[in-house]
Amino acid sequence: MDLLGLSGPAPDPVPDGELICSAKGCREQAAWGLLWNNPKLHTPERRKVWLACDEHREHLEQFLGARSFWKQTVAVAELDRVS
Ligand SMILES: [Zn+2]
Repeated sequence: MDLLGLSGPAPDPVPDGELICSAKGCREQAAWGLLWNNPKLHTPERRKVWLACDEHREHLEQFLGARSFWKQTVAVAELDRVS
């Protein structure tokens, strides 16, 4: 709950349990959640989440940034979990 709206739109929840990096072929544990939005597919307040390990964080940020989809990167501990 964020009554004051200080933290911005809430990202989509991620699965409970182990979180794996979203980079193709990577099986590392994710350390980061990359929040992104494609305005052609999503409402402006929607935040999709890609998970990234330390190694792939920058690569995935650049991929999303090049398409102007990237919004923010947060630690996985800050993401809401599906229970
Ligand atoms: Zn990775």
